[in-house]
Amino acid sequence: MPGDESGYTSQINALHAALGIASDYGEWIGLPLQHEPAQLVSAGPDMFGRPQQMTPATFAAWQAMRDRAARDGITLCLVSAYRGATYQADLIRRKLDGGRTLDDILKVNAAPGYSEHHTGRALDIATPGSPPLETEFDQTDAFDWLMKNADEFGFVLSYPKESVSAITYEPWHWCLRAD
Ligand SMILES: [Zn+2]
Repeated sequence: MPGDESGYTSQINALHAALGIASDYGEWIGLPLQHEPAQLVSAGPDMFGRPQQMTPATFAAWQAMRDRAARDGITLCLVSAYRGATYQADLIRRKLDGGRTLDDILKVNAAPGYSEHHTGRALDIATPGSPPLETEFDQTDAFDWLMKNADEFGFVLSYPKESVSAITYEPWHWCLRAD
């Protein structure tokens, strides 16, 4: 949040130190620090029944986009929306405890503070018949529909194939443009 920039930066630095993440991570990954929103609303359960939150504008845009897709015969499912920095740190800690290396984990998970999911504007989207969070989502009619129509609702594919950041291609990850 504006006004509490140094507090947020200190929290992120502490989470990184605890996980052994290098202090130049932000420059290396090529992504800005992501801030948590002032307001989140309940967006109901995701496809696994887990309660999800997003910003009010994101929720409105998501509902409108999902409804339009449904009218076109396309089913869009929510996999994940808002995730805070502490949640992201816990996720990485569990993978480290499971024996994976930090380098491997950071290829697929942004470090705490750098995930677009912190903003409450990023959504992971799936469709029936295609496993969630897998690259083959880009072979589905749902992905084609999103590439043609998501822009109209304000959603942008954050990590395209030709990405400027070190985050790998994520055809399922869409973020509402900041206003
Ligand atoms: Zn995502």
